[in-house]
Amino acid sequence: MHEMLNHSTLLLKVECQDIKEYFAGQFVNLQRDDGLIRSYSIANVPQQDGILEFHIRRLPDGRFSEWMHDQIRIGDNIAVSEPQGHCFYLPERADQGLLLVGTGTGLAPLAGILEDALKQGHTGPVTLFHGARTVADLYRIDELREFAQKYDNFSYFPCVSGEPASEGYTAGRADQVALAHMNGWQGWRVFLCGHPDMVSSMKMEAFMQGVSMKDIYTDAFVAAG
Ligand SMILES: Cc1cc2nc3c(=O)[nH]c(=O)nc-3n(C[C@H](O)[C@H](O)[C@H](O)COP(=O)(O)OP(=O)(O)OC[C@H]3O[C@@H](n4cnc5c(N)ncnc54)[C@H](O)[C@@H]3O)c2cc1C
Repeated sequence: MHEMLNHSTLLLKVECQDIKEYFAGQFVNLQRDDGLIRSYSIANVPQQDGILEFHIRRLPDGRFSEWMHDQIRIGDNIAVSEPQGHCFYLPERADQGLLLVGTGTGLAPLAGILEDALKQGHTGPVTLFHGARTVADLYRIDELREFAQKYDNFSYFPCVSGEPASEGYTAGRADQVALAHMNGWQGWRVFLCGHPDMVSSMKMEAFMQGVSMKDIYTDAFVAAG
């Protein structure tokens, strides 16, 4: 039985003994037997048992994502590429502010980055804005709230843009809520993951706000060509 993170997002666990060293937030290419390839972000930090976790959102008529939701079975094999990408946490400047903004399954790399940073003892403020249209489209809400209780330096803002926000949620798109909330983020490290439009506009905003380009890490979930 696969675990669902919400009505449309599958938690896929792949045992991969060949990949023991990677940074949470990097992505791999998964390949089906017929050659179809898609990129997915690794959502967990490296484990002893070699389990890689992925958050897979079902897209209407999505060739790869529908197949993963409907047809892949426990015990099936899938080809996994080397980890790629530079959107991950490095334990340098532990007192630096970290701003994480994600839409939809953009939470996958951010969840890994967050876990990595907090477990490695990051001391600076860490602020996560996760956005979706409705509360039902968000996920890991309770877990992230618990993290915010446990770690004084971590703040979590679940944002909804397609329905009125009930208590505990903020109305608006994650990037807009982040812009309204943040002030003085020069010197912060910024991670932007998910919808390509959000990623490119927030990247520009971060730069305009004085964040150094070398401190901006992005993963735009562009559709495969
Ligand atoms: C670096 C990187 C990391 C990624 N990480 C993740 C991840 O962690 N989780 C995840 O679920 N996806 C992730 N993606 C997106 C993923 O690679 C696929 O593009 C996605 O699953 C759709 O593939 P598909 O074969 O199901 O849809 P397709 O058959 O390729 O497309 C079906 C329809 O959906 C549209 N579409 C395709 N992609 C998107 C999209 N991202 N948003 C909205 N509409 C789209 C297409 O234009 C088409 O109309 C990532 C992409 C990149 C580049």
